Amino acid sequence: MKFVSEFRDRETAKGLVDAIHKEVCSDERYRFMEVCGSHTMAISKFGIRSLLPDNVELVSGPGCPVCVTPQWEIDAVFRMAEEAVIVTFGDMLRVPGSNGESLQKLRSEGKDIRIVFSPLDTLAMAVKEPERDFVFLGIGFETTAPTSAALAKSARMKGVENLYITPYSKTVPEVLQVLLDDESLGINGFVCPGHVSVITGLSIYEPVAERGIGAVVTGFEPLDILSSVLELIRQTNSGSASVVNMYPRVVRPEGNPKALGLLDEVFRKEDTDWRGLGSIPGSGLRFNDEYSSFDALRYFEIESSGVYDIDVCRCGDVLKGKMSPKECPLFGDACTPVNPVGPCMVSSEGSCSAYYKYER
Ligand code: SF4
Repeated sequence: MKFVSEFRDRETAKGLVDAIHKEVCSDERYRFMEVCGSHTMAISKFGIRSLLPDNVELVSGPGCPVCVTPQWEIDAVFRMAEEAVIVTFGDMLRVPGSNGESLQKLRSEGKDIRIVFSPLDTLAMAVKEPERDFVFLGIGFETTAPTSAALAKSARMKGVENLYITPYSKTVPEVLQVLLDDESLGINGFVCPGHVSVITGLSIYEPVAERGIGAVVTGFEPLDILSSVLELIRQTNSGSASVVNMYPRVVRPEGNPKALGLLDEVFRKEDTDWRGLGSIPGSGLRFNDEYSSFDALRYFEIESSGVYDIDVCRCGDVLKGKMSPKECPLFGDACTPVNPVGPCMVSSEGSCSAYYKYER
């Protein structure tokens, strides 16, 4: 239990909560955003929000990979499923398309949709069945993009020609700037994603601190989260913003150079679309020329339809921290995990799903 029990110690947690209450200024408003779906889940699961003073707000941002995938990219997968085997992580199965379809429904109708735990499993399938085309759904942030890159690199080394990857991976630094540009959000601190930081290191958050906004990298246990909130409160009070690593047991300042090298080798940065946020310059990882034959969008000749969100669903506002899931008129009624309307209710890292599970 090392690294779990010691970060859930009740007495230490109580001390941190007391310190938080002692340090907040009653006339200040503290609005901190976590940009990681795993943090969203942990905050809800451990009831962190209920422990904080009323003027300290934790809001969820665009940190769930499934949730930020725009509608047209989801719809494109259904078109690919007509001709190819779709290989994906389980979270994508129930995400609704604009036409009400889901991969789960297509699978029940006989389409070949396969679940994997490792992207590299796709390679073995493609080698075994050379007469079929395979599409791995490459979604996520810097955390998972290296595994998509590794899949493309391995397939290239083996000369595999029936494997494609959706180039849906997105990067975090650019979206943080977009969130800060929107003054209506009033963010005065980021709880930065621990898993992403393992790959990127800390330097990607420097531009945030340079804008006077605190950026604290932390883990997923109650003491991690509470201590990062305390640090952000102290930074807000002192008016001095900096990047702080409160997850040194996992995150190194320089990140993971090997994984970063792999990303550089396989991808280049391009503009990409985000659900709820539109197109964000330089925030997408697209295949560079050497690897472009693995690009599923290119192979299936798919272009953006310009549809980013489902009309009735408020995931876009939830992802920007503009509204809490509970403020969505469909929450818990027309939209539930069994009958989800949007991806934020489907994904195991989605805000609506977290609120439904732990904060109803
Ligand atoms: S509750 Fe459902 S409809 Fe509302 S924002 Fe969340 S996923 Fe979308």
